[in-house]
Amino acid sequence: MTTRKGKSLYRDICIGRLVFYRGRREVQRREAADAGEELRRFEEAVAMAKSQLHRLYERSVQTVGEANAAIFQVQELLLEDGEYLRAVKQGIAEGRSYAEYAVWEAGQRIAGKLRALEDDYIRERDQDILDVTDRLLGALAREQRAEAAEEPFILAARDLLPSQVVQLSAYPVQGLALGGGRFHSHTAILARSMGIPVLMQLGEDLEENWEGKTAAIDGFEGVLYLDPDEGMLEKLEEKKREAGRRRKALEGLKGKENITRGGQSVKLYANAGSLVDVEEACANDAGGIGLLRSELLYLESPSAPGEEQQFSFYRQVLERMGEKEVVIRTFDIGADKMPPWLCVQAEENPALGLKSIRLGLERPQLLKTQLRALYRAGVSGNLRIMYPMITSVEEVLQLKQIEEQVQRELAREGIPYARKIPTGIMIETPAAAVLADLLAEEVDFFSVGTNDLTQYTLALDRQNEALERFADPDNKAVLRLVEFTVKCAHRAGIWAGVCGELAADTAFTEAFLRMGVDELSVSPGMVLELREKIREL
Ligand code: PEP
Ligand code: MG
Repeated sequence: MTTRKGKSLYRDICIGRLVFYRGRREVQRREAADAGEELRRFEEAVAMAKSQLHRLYERSVQTVGEANAAIFQVQELLLEDGEYLRAVKQGIAEGRSYAEYAVWEAGQRIAGKLRALEDDYIRERDQDILDVTDRLLGALAREQRAEAAEEPFILAARDLLPSQVVQLSAYPVQGLALGGGRFHSHTAILARSMGIPVLMQLGEDLEENWEGKTAAIDGFEGVLYLDPDEGMLEKLEEKKREAGRRRKALEGLKGKENITRGGQSVKLYANAGSLVDVEEACANDAGGIGLLRSELLYLESPSAPGEEQQFSFYRQVLERMGEKEVVIRTFDIGADKMPPWLCVQAEENPALGLKSIRLGLERPQLLKTQLRALYRAGVSGNLRIMYPMITSVEEVLQLKQIEEQVQRELAREGIPYARKIPTGIMIETPAAAVLADLLAEEVDFFSVGTNDLTQYTLALDRQNEALERFADPDNKAVLRLVEFTVKCAHRAGIWAGVCGELAADTAFTEAFLRMGVDELSVSPGMVLELREKIREL
């Protein structure tokens, strides 16, 4: 039995087979002895990859919907015929390469050619070619890809990008073991929202030859076990049962109010990024959606999501939530949440760069498409629109102009839309917090994003795990800014919530309530635990 200590993101236990996520690889050229044999291996790999993609498509339709699952159909088509297959076969037959090299070389060459094209849509297909290349290399090595597994498994990886975490919902993943990662990174937030045990910071040297071994994650202690012995398995099974009993006990709080013993009540909402999360929010009796991270749709899509695709997604969310409030945040993309199709120049400091609302103001057409979809969907429920990463009153005034333009266009086109949608902003930069009195005059609500507010206030990169020891466990600076924000909001007669990860930390619930925070929005799995805490105060 081997053990590794890490940082736990979710308190639960899982036991299963370990599958290692390898990511992109490089292949060196080697000459093949028998081209016929290499061609046969290649044909077999194509068949295996096609059947994996087909299965993946069918599973994703159920979890992320037709539009987002289409990416797997596109990739399957690449394996039907065409330039890519011809190039590989030529590499084997004429170049006398072994199949792995011919696949890799053709993939790199065609992806490079696509990247050089003018047309944005075609250029973005380079990612599909690279993905298919990787899948074929896996098939040639006869690896069982994650999605081929019918049984739930534990996924191990050195690290994952937020966009990779988003795609995991298509797989039967029951736990995540990551070598690196930071607690407040988007990867961590998305992984936590999956409601499964997740360990981070297990060490750079996670070993790929652990593949296929039995593993267990103890999310209470933050420990990964490999080949756990009988005694440990029994202990973990008992702990798992105990966790189940605790969850059952929390279920008794469904339908109860979020009210302290002293009679102070607070709205308790859920953060979400997908329809699956929205279902989880309902299952956990959240009072609404306090933060819908719309950018997940942008990360999942093979190209910029169009108005109809967005409209359909927002409408489904609003209809599911009925009369309950739904706060949809406009796309918060850029920096670590970079969709493969978005072409922006490489930056020295992406977290301080062209991202989030800045991208929306810089490329208004991208924002207008989203606002059109939101205004149209607004007739189907209780929608609020929220803008991320605001730093000045001028930005809010510019956004109001864009809103007016969008509404005028919809009216001119005779398209039904909701006329009065309350709009708010995230307070997640020190500038916004310091200007809260002035900003409160311009918007209908505030929601404090403590993840970024911490990053920007403490000048502490939320992606950099080496900085963890410089984080202030008491969050004194951030709490002062939250208090000031709430005060300014109330003076102006608007409400203020908290939707960063700090909202779910029960060590701070009392402080937030003392400040008069009106709403706490947390990952769906934390709603009932927080309700329990509030009712104890
Ligand atoms: C935050 O910054 O606290 C927040 C809620 O937004 P995100 O974590 O998506 O950046
Ligand atoms: Mg943020």
